[in-house]
Amino acid sequence: MKGVYIVGASGSIGTQALDVIREYSHEFKVIGLSLGHDLVKAKQIVEEFKPEIICLREKKEFNLSYKPIIVYGDSGLLEIAKYKKLDNEVFVNALVGISGLMPTVVAIKAKKDIALANKETLVVAGDIIKSLIKDNNVKLTPIDSEHSAILECLQGENKADVKRLIITASGGSFRDRTRSELIGVTKKEALSHPNWSMGSKITIDSATMMNKGFEVIEAHHLFDIPYDKIDTILHKESIVHSMVEYNDGVIKAAIGSADMHTPIAYALRYPKHEHITNKPLNLIGLNLHFEELSFDRYPCLEYAYYAVNRGGIYPAVLNAANEAAVWLFLNDKIEFLDIEKIIHDEITNNKYESVEYSLDKIISISLDIMKNIKERYDR
Ligand code: MG
Repeated sequence: MKGVYIVGASGSIGTQALDVIREYSHEFKVIGLSLGHDLVKAKQIVEEFKPEIICLREKKEFNLSYKPIIVYGDSGLLEIAKYKKLDNEVFVNALVGISGLMPTVVAIKAKKDIALANKETLVVAGDIIKSLIKDNNVKLTPIDSEHSAILECLQGENKADVKRLIITASGGSFRDRTRSELIGVTKKEALSHPNWSMGSKITIDSATMMNKGFEVIEAHHLFDIPYDKIDTILHKESIVHSMVEYNDGVIKAAIGSADMHTPIAYALRYPKHEHITNKPLNLIGLNLHFEELSFDRYPCLEYAYYAVNRGGIYPAVLNAANEAAVWLFLNDKIEFLDIEKIIHDEITNNKYESVEYSLDKIISISLDIMKNIKERYDR
């Protein structure tokens, strides 16, 4: 039996992870869960899986048929990360935002394997996380469809033979619009993604293509491939989940229907391919298209490369500016195109150059940036 902890269990990735665990209940025992604001849904999940420890956002009446340990808020997430029951445990991080960073750190130190859906962990602190993974001798597997695909394509291969990683992008909700057609777009339009059903933050990040920028940074850390060997490509069908090109011209692609259960099952049971998808892909009549993903159309993608080139704490600056800007957009405080403007202003500011690259600084600078940006526009 492998012990499972899921933070963000009632979100999109969390509930799909629970579907996979339900399918493999003879292999996994849910020990800890963190749940969101919807207490009806939370109760349903908790009563089904009966974890020993649960984390709620805040103290509220929560009557159950049994007595688990109940913890609250950000400190509660760390309690879950640190809890220990079995020798063999995995921590599924399905939180959104930089609040996912410290739970990952604490879970690694508690010798849990990590199945990572929280993007910000590797974006802001990739090098720190990598050395923690090594020092604590645990495994980290990606849940994102693109990184799961690259992991598949690298199986049995020698990294020296890799010419480049090619990360595919669906193009997000505004892919058929020109830049001038982005003026005045609404939140509702931004939130309707053509191919994937996801949480609201990541759907906006897909529309700005910041999400792809984050995935480039994550891929660099996950697979130890330099940034000049990581490319992106527009692929509207979301059938090719990503590719690896080798020096002899061979391109390996992981192809399948757009169903997050597949990468979640792969991450949890790596390297097994037993999960039966309910969306098998029919190859007959399939048309696949690829187009250039241009920096002119999607400046946020360029900002990601810019931030990693600046190095140090700049990827954290990039993330914090984005996190605040997306929050402002989702709360009707700014226009869609203001998101990239806010990010640009922050990452081109020289004042972060001398900031030390450490967990403490990453968190404190991120919180400062988010607070300042929100205050500037939140009126
Ligand atoms: Mg993705």
